[in-house]
Amino acid sequence: MNDRSWPRIGVLAIQGDYAAHADALTECGAIPSLVKIGEDLRPDGRSLDGLVLPGGESTTMLKFLEKHQFFDVLKDYCETHPVFATCAGAILIAREVRHPAQRSLGVLDAVVERNAYGRQIDSTILQAETSLPGGPLEMVFIRAPRIAEVGPGVEVLARREGSAVLVRQGKILAATFHPELSVDRRVHKAFVKAVIEAIRK
Ligand code: GLN
Repeated sequence: MNDRSWPRIGVLAIQGDYAAHADALTECGAIPSLVKIGEDLRPDGRSLDGLVLPGGESTTMLKFLEKHQFFDVLKDYCETHPVFATCAGAILIAREVRHPAQRSLGVLDAVVERNAYGRQIDSTILQAETSLPGGPLEMVFIRAPRIAEVGPGVEVLARREGSAVLVRQGKILAATFHPELSVDRRVHKAFVKAVIEAIRK
């Protein structure tokens, strides 16, 4: 029996740091469930309550999705359920991807430029203001994309050098950094709260 105060949240587990997200979700009162194929979005015939798309390498994830006929199934899921996408995950869900261009799920009304802050060696940890309660937030950037444009329905929750780094659009939350690598769990908690609210609606 699933107690509905413990939402079941999937973590796309094709590649990247999905294990850290699963741990973060557990710490925030959710039950993580690894998703490797389309059927994993509906374990026991019932859809997972939400999904995390982790950081990693978006091109590798995209190739896997296309090879395993998972692209359209994932797009349908992301159009109808709460989704939290970080870094490569944010690239995957964007409306448009540049530098270089690549196919994307197109569920977040944003234009994203890959590797826009430099190479791996330029990855960095910053403290930045956010509209999430609790003061400045630590942000771990690893070969991060830059959100170059957002549509009118996208709320910007934090910025780096003027560009959005944490955004919300309805049931979608996206970060260009890696909240799962910081001790501060505010971003995951905000997502789990949104998932619980979506279940209750
Ligand atoms: N540079 C990676 C990409 O383009 C994203 C990096 C990350 O997820 N940390 O997919």
